[in-house]
This record gives sequence, C-alpha cells and structure tokens, in this order.
Amino acid sequence: MPSSSPHRLTRQIVIAMLAGIALGVALNQLGAGPWLQTFVVDGLLHVIGSVFVAALKMMVVPLVFVSLVVGVTALSDLKTLGRIGAKALALYLATTALAVTIALALAGAVGPGHGFDAGTTEAGFSGKEAPPLTQMLIDLVPTNPVAAMAEGNMLQIIVFALLFGVAVTMSGTRGRHVLNFFTDLDVVIMHMVEWIMRLAPWGVFALITRTFASQGLDILLPLAAYFLTLTAALAIQLFVTYPVLLRLLASLNPITFLKKMRDPAAFAFSTASSGATIPVTLHTVEYKMGVPNSIASFTVPLGATINMDGTAMMQGVATVFIANVYGIDLTLTDYLLVVLTATLASVGTAAIPAVGLVTLTMVLGQVGLPVEGIALIIGVDRLLDMMRTTVNVSGDCVVSCIVAKSEKALDLDVFNDPAAGSVEAATRRHPLSTSSA
Ligand code: ASP
Repeated sequence: MPSSSPHRLTRQIVIAMLAGIALGVALNQLGAGPWLQTFVVDGLLHVIGSVFVAALKMMVVPLVFVSLVVGVTALSDLKTLGRIGAKALALYLATTALAVTIALALAGAVGPGHGFDAGTTEAGFSGKEAPPLTQMLIDLVPTNPVAAMAEGNMLQIIVFALLFGVAVTMSGTRGRHVLNFFTDLDVVIMHMVEWIMRLAPWGVFALITRTFASQGLDILLPLAAYFLTLTAALAIQLFVTYPVLLRLLASLNPITFLKKMRDPAAFAFSTASSGATIPVTLHTVEYKMGVPNSIASFTVPLGATINMDGTAMMQGVATVFIANVYGIDLTLTDYLLVVLTATLASVGTAAIPAVGLVTLTMVLGQVGLPVEGIALIIGVDRLLDMMRTTVNVSGDCVVSCIVAKSEKALDLDVFNDPAAGSVEAATRRHPLSTSSA
C-alpha cells in the first residue's frame, strides 16, 4: 500500500459520508418512489451496508483474541498488566463521569423539555432489568471460551485471552512457538481489516444514505432543544475535553489526534456500533497513533465494552429533558445519582446500536422518573446514536494514547507522522512483529 493511501482512503470515506447525507436527505424530502425505494434504498443500499457491517463484525472476535494474546506476551510482567489495566479503568470511569457532568450542566442551563407537549408521541417503551453486580462479576469468567467467542462476549474473551497470553509467556520454548504463530496471525488478520477499510467508502455511503432516506429531518423539529443540547454536549467532549486531556495528561497535539480520528469516527458514525468499529479503532490506535499492540489490544476492546462517554452524555441530557417534560424537579442529590448511575450504565451498555436507551431505564429509575419518557426521544435516537458512538470510540482512543504515553511506550514518530497508517508501514518499522513494545 503506498504511503499516501491511508490519506486518500480517509478523504474518500469523508466524501462518501457527505454524499450519503446529501442523497439521503434528498430522497427523504423528494420521496424515493416505489421503484427507488424497493430496489435501491431497501435493496442495493441495504445489502451493501449490511454486508459491510457483517464483514467488520466478522473480524472483531479473531482480531481481539489474537491481538490480545500477542499484546499480553509483550508485557514484561503481570505487574505491568495490572498497572495498565488500573490506569485504563480509572481513566475510562473518570472521563465518563466528567462527560455526564458536562452534559448535566449544559442541560441544566438550557432546560430542554420545558413546554414540550408529551401528547405528540405515541411510541411505547418498556425497560429491561439490569443484571445484579454479583452476576456481572461471575459472568466475567467464560464457562466455555468457544461459546464466549461465538456470542461475541467481549469481557469473557478478554479474560480468556489474558490468561492464555500469560500461560504462553510461562511455557518456555513451546510457548515461543505458539507466540510466533499468533504474532504472524495478528499481521494476517490486520491485512484482512485493511481490505474491509478499503471498501469503507461504499459501505459508509450505503449505510448513511439509507439512514437519512428513512429518517426525515422533520422529526427533529419538536425535539430540537433536546437534540441540539446533546449535540453541543457531545461536541464539547470531542473538541474541548479530549483535547485538553491529551494536552494535560500526555502532552500530545490534539489536532494531530483529531485528524487521525477520521477513519474510526466515520465507521462509528455510519454503523452506530463501537463493537463493530473495534477493528478500525485498533488499527488506527496502533498504526496511526503509535500505541503499542501490548497496550492497544487491551485498552481498545475494553474501552469499546465499558467506556461510553457519548452514551452517558445522552443519558444525562435525556434525564433532564424527561424531568422537564413531566414537570419534576431534580435535586442536587438526583444530579449526583445520575452521574453515578450513568457512569455505571455506560459500563453495562453493549457496544451495539440503541442499547444506550435500554440502560437509560436504570438511570431514570434511580431518580424516580417514568421510564415511558424514553418513548419521547426514541424517534430521534438513531442520529444521536451515530453521534454518541463517535464520541464513545474517540474516548477509547484518547485513553489508549494517554495510557501508552504514561507508560513511555507511545511511538511519537508514528503519532506525529501524518502518513503513518498501514500494516506494511508498521512491519517495515518492526520487521518481525507488529508489536512495538
Ligand atoms: N451505539 C452505542 C455504541 O455502540 C451504544 C449506545 O449508546 O446505544 O457505542
């Protein structure tokens, strides 16, 4: 792949996104007509978009497992693994708590939902019980790792891969053989990820055109205050909070970071799934940002699973909106409860579309708000889901960079190189392994 290729691809993806939005809105406004609707929107675009998302998901389990095994073996000892895990966890929780706090402050100031007529929506919503904490802890250990992989249970896969990786390190020469195989496999799988990334302009175009063709922008109007408050909160997290954190905690250039975020951001936006975006996030964090595989292979899948800053922000703004619609005053204790529950709910939110709304029931229940309130915002959720998933994924990348920098393991040459970004370039740097630790 020539060195300018990642750049060209990013440009193509951005163009595909903008073209998809324009065409989708046009189709929605002008009416697609039965033929266009059946054969193009629900036919061709649906097939291309679904195949693209399926191909991305196809890579998640093999990539996370293989990459994590290689990553763990590159760490010098278990203490290092524990330290990286503790830092990542602390940063993931802290950034999420900060995100909800910002969202609540903004929503408190703007006051979305005052004067909103709740009678205008008819959609219903029924919540689902969250599992108790004890069960969540028990469920971390897979009774059958193959089943965990078949179900794509990320936390269980992480636990098994960590144990397997540690065993490989402790198995002497035989472990070495296994490691060599996994190291090569990691490069092979990343090559497959790059194939899918090359198809991204088509996949992104199909997904976005179809979403905008079916989601008219007029449904946004009655909920404009909610929509705009959340959009502003998400923008603050992405363009203010993350840059400040990168500067303060890692002395990294936020503009360079944001430029390198374009690929995973486009994937997250078009798929609304941080889980499906994992291959691209991992690729970007390792090959474009210079985070060693030993750290990225752990922080990225973990972040995709437990770190959802954008989702937590939605839950903060939605809580204030629903409270205002129902004329219920929230106290300071309620606000603190929202910060706590939204942070924990983000840990329990699966990295797939629309699950943030399900865990919102936990937050609303905590402060005594009616769960039916969710029906009010469901109509505009798809677009907001796309935006908050972009923030979720960006948060994973920010924390990965900060952890790597604090471990003095971030490859600044890669981070600062605008052309960095392919497996080939990385293997040229580290001929026998993609791991730079
Ligand atoms: N779609 C989000 C994600 O995958 C989760 C959510 O907020 O619904 O990150």
